[in-house]
Amino acid sequence: MSAALALSPEVLAKYQPVIGLEVHVQLLTKTKAFCGCKNEYGGEPNTHVCPVCLGLPGALPVLNKQAVEYAVLAAKAIGCEIRETSIFSRKNYFYPDSPKGYQISQFDKPIAENGELIVPGFDAAGNAISKRIGITRLHMEEDAGKSLHDGFADSASRTYIDLNRCGTPLVEIVSEPDLRTADEVFEYLTKLKEILLYTGVSDCNMEEGSLRCDANVSVMLKSDWEARGTAAYGTKAEVKNVNSFRYIRAAVEYEIERQIGVIEDGGRVVQESRLWNNAEGRTYSMRSKEQAHDYRYFPEPDLPALVVGAEWQKNILSAMPELPEARRARLASEYGLSTQDAATLTTDRELGDFFQQAAALAKSPKRVAAILLSEITMRLRGGELVLGQSPVSLNGLVLAADLAEAGEISSKQLKQLLDSCFTESKDFAFIYDRDKPQQISDTSAIEAMIDEVIAANPAQVAQFKGGKRTVSAFFVGQVMKLSKGQANPALLNELVVKKLDA
Ligand code: ADP
Ligand code: ZN
Ligand code: MG
Repeated sequence: MSAALALSPEVLAKYQPVIGLEVHVQLLTKTKAFCGCKNEYGGEPNTHVCPVCLGLPGALPVLNKQAVEYAVLAAKAIGCEIRETSIFSRKNYFYPDSPKGYQISQFDKPIAENGELIVPGFDAAGNAISKRIGITRLHMEEDAGKSLHDGFADSASRTYIDLNRCGTPLVEIVSEPDLRTADEVFEYLTKLKEILLYTGVSDCNMEEGSLRCDANVSVMLKSDWEARGTAAYGTKAEVKNVNSFRYIRAAVEYEIERQIGVIEDGGRVVQESRLWNNAEGRTYSMRSKEQAHDYRYFPEPDLPALVVGAEWQKNILSAMPELPEARRARLASEYGLSTQDAATLTTDRELGDFFQQAAALAKSPKRVAAILLSEITMRLRGGELVLGQSPVSLNGLVLAADLAEAGEISSKQLKQLLDSCFTESKDFAFIYDRDKPQQISDTSAIEAMIDEVIAANPAQVAQFKGGKRTVSAFFVGQVMKLSKGQANPALLNELVVKKLDA
């Protein structure tokens, strides 16, 4: 997706990319980080504000307890250690949408450090491996407001300031420079989002800015890397505020090639912030000058040290759900699901919960998984629905699975019933009661049809008698056709084999 640069694979192969990510995540607290204003996306501009989040003189911040609990939960879910006593600091800089002139953040004593994510990647020989990506820290801070630009670059252009977002609680999750490819970046972010969604601390909605990512990218010669290791890291450029994982992957890919091009041309990479232009598939310099930020951090005098003792930590962690990785392994072993199916069922917590509840009620969890992952998912996708909008309830799915498992409905009948559920927006029990397929469960009627099919297909009969027992499926299929899909499948299977063996 990124604009191709004319660099040969040989040139690209000389360089080692190095990437570290800074991810900002808005927390789903009811109120803001340091005041009682509503923490809610949107709203009439400048209506969710008060003296504290407007930074009026004399207003004092009070830390939101829920924000701390969410930060601890998120930190633990990504393997971080919690610092019992952490400190809020002021990060001073001027920006029109930040009325205080500083941001309350954490600096040298963040609430959490030393986490990790394990992501799928490849070794130098191209073999699939698991890679550990270190997480340097997770710290708490507040969001800024928003600048809205109107009438770009014409004489009447104006910028409006909406401070509703000011003071929204954030955690910033900073990775080590352990990522090596744009694909690894994509995997890391996917995994991070999956875990955060499971914990429920954020909705991670990228369009609304609940999850935002800055990618730090540098390249160095592989020969330097081999000789000097991390001491040879190149100068990084930071790509800011890209709002989808796919675009971030494209931006990182582009940025790697751009930097290699600069070095190959005899230039040097400048430390700067860059913006991704998706329409053009390239990054642009945002701050052209090489400027070292001096934020003049100092401890926030209006907030005491944050102490999260052992007791409180224990309380918070009682809300930790089973995380996707663990759930995946458990579903696979508990229900004998394939790794792929277990993975698909757990990417989304709601889907995993739905499956588990249905599996507990149904006769065959495997059948539930099969119907959920194929028939239901396919129809949801076709109707652009999410699981919560499915016409087939939990009990509907269980009923469908049990009927299919008992052979009381054929797979074709199941499909027809589900089609009706989705076109009429009715639950499975209702449709089944109304359209209950006429099933032929009369042994002699089925036997008569089997006889007919056997008589018509002597070659297949000979194959079966010659030892190719799988040919029985052919007869089942033919009889099913003859019965217009109404023969009781379990009974039919049994009778076909009996007849052929006779
Ligand atoms: P800064 O002080 O410029 O903010 P940090 O050391 O705090 O830099 O790192 C910010 C992010 O950049 C981290 O995710 C880190 O892993 C990453 N990073 C640091 N150095 C490099 C580098 N040379 N190349 C790529 N990423 C880097
Ligand atoms: Zn406020
Ligand atoms: Mg930094």
